Amino acid sequence: MSAPHYDIIIIGTGMGGATLAYALRDSGARILLLERGDFLPQEAQNWQVDAVFGQNRYKPAERWIDAADGSSFTPGVHYFVGGNTKVYGAALPRFRRQDFEALEHEGGTAPAWPITYEDLEPYYNLAEELFFVHGTAGSDPGEPPRSRPYPYPEVPHEPYMAELIDKLRAQGLHPYSLPMAVDLRAGGRCIRCGTCDGFPCQAHAKGDADICCLRPALECDDIQLWTHTEARRVLSDSSGKRATTVEVKRRGERLGVSADKIIVACGAVNSAILLLRSRCGRYPDGLGNSSGLLGRNYMMHNNTALTAVAPLKTNPTVFQKTTAVNDYYFGDDDFAWPMGNIQALGKLQAGMLSAAKPYLPKAFLSAMAKRSVDWWVMSEDLPDPENRVMVGDDGAVRVHWRPNNRVAHQQLIRRAKDMMRAAGYPFVFTETLGIETNSHQCGTARFGDDPAESVLDPLCKSHDIDNLYVVDSSFFPSSTAMNPALTICAQALRVADHLQGKPPLQSELSA
Ligand SMILES: Cc1cc2nc3c(=O)[nH]c(=O)nc-3n(C[C@H](O)[C@H](O)[C@H](O)COP(=O)(O)OP(=O)(O)OC[C@H]3O[C@@H](n4cnc5c(N)ncnc54)[C@H](O)[C@@H]3O)c2cc1C
Repeated sequence: MSAPHYDIIIIGTGMGGATLAYALRDSGARILLLERGDFLPQEAQNWQVDAVFGQNRYKPAERWIDAADGSSFTPGVHYFVGGNTKVYGAALPRFRRQDFEALEHEGGTAPAWPITYEDLEPYYNLAEELFFVHGTAGSDPGEPPRSRPYPYPEVPHEPYMAELIDKLRAQGLHPYSLPMAVDLRAGGRCIRCGTCDGFPCQAHAKGDADICCLRPALECDDIQLWTHTEARRVLSDSSGKRATTVEVKRRGERLGVSADKIIVACGAVNSAILLLRSRCGRYPDGLGNSSGLLGRNYMMHNNTALTAVAPLKTNPTVFQKTTAVNDYYFGDDDFAWPMGNIQALGKLQAGMLSAAKPYLPKAFLSAMAKRSVDWWVMSEDLPDPENRVMVGDDGAVRVHWRPNNRVAHQQLIRRAKDMMRAAGYPFVFTETLGIETNSHQCGTARFGDDPAESVLDPLCKSHDIDNLYVVDSSFFPSSTAMNPALTICAQALRVADHLQGKPPLQSELSA
């Protein structure tokens, strides 16, 4: 089979891959995007709780193996053009300046990044423009400095949430407006429905990587997309310094495509799996894995869902995901270590609860969902080389993730419970989620200056292979306790400048 040749192949069209394609659209490079999924259909089921949560309509049938006990689970991945952003909650905060520095936690140290907040700051500006982020600068305590305001004003709180926010302020807290990528611009299509967080947007009004990046990129004649095309291996030349070919399975057919530069952007687990599967004589432990760190230091946050119920008060909010609390991000007077972020979730619906708790009566769950306010309690998990993804002998994805930094997470849960009880919610239920809740997966090909301590250089290029890049959440050396997607996007924009030989943008903050 003859191998068509391109200037650049990008594997995966999620936040990293689609952003990169968009940023390279005027570069003159002939680019091929490979995506194992298809465009997510615009259909009634997009907004049906039972279809999305009960039947897992948009999740793949594949099962991953929990390497700790050999059990299998359905992972939180979505194989579509746009990747996980098709269903994401669209909260797009920047990381804190301190997140880029070594940060001491109760459970250990989050390592420093090889770049500073200032290196990424001008790209955060561009990323926020690209994803039409709505927010208010200065409302989030501890937020990093910005050289530009948010491109669009914050998403307004519905009256019930505004009242709750006042109650939290009365406790001395600083609930802030969550930066959101929903299209409330003049003429924007967002109707602020209750099916945003966790659902595909039937109105195409969510700022996802498909809508904001991939479709505009495809308007350029130089950019081609192959859907239903799974990359199986990346081959290198005999020197081991150049990647040459991507072996793909396209609609059942196996073929090879070659390029001058190969960019892997399959998401942190699948990128590592692809490169581990690409082992060869020169790289017996996985392509570009002379550090031995490929697949290791897998992180996905400590995540707890919290539901606070006021039995005598219904919550009529439709679009609940407008606020968050960062007062405990770096600790408080009683616990000197970072704890994390408490973020409003999309409004919980009875069908979501019954999908998770089928043994509980539906009437009870429905009554509860009508009276609840729902939060995501998120703490940093720390890189541990033993937490890793591997390819099983049968080719299955194996994940070993033993949670760490749990004391800090418990402290944050306690504060979140106290916060809601003090606001008038006597019943607070929490559920700490496990290995299957890997929406914020990252870290499997960390970037750094030292080839012995990292897989990628600070521009996401393989230390080993001169024309191989990984531009998705794999590069994170730490998970921080904020939502990851804006940072993936900002770094992809930075890498795009590098690929075009442009000097990096300088932050106006450092001027
Ligand atoms: C329910 C949910 C809610 C979330 N909410 C938020 C939020 O509010 N804010 C936030 O910042 N983040 C959120 N996230 C996380 C966010 O979506 C991810 O961090 C982000 O999409 C990761 O980008 P990525 O490029 O690393 O991978 P992805 O976006 O997952 O993209 C990977 C792409 O690669 C493709 N692919 C995989 N393997 C192959 C292969 N072998 N060959 C070809 N193609 C392949 C996949 O189909 C996919 O298109 C959420 C995620 C989920 C699931």
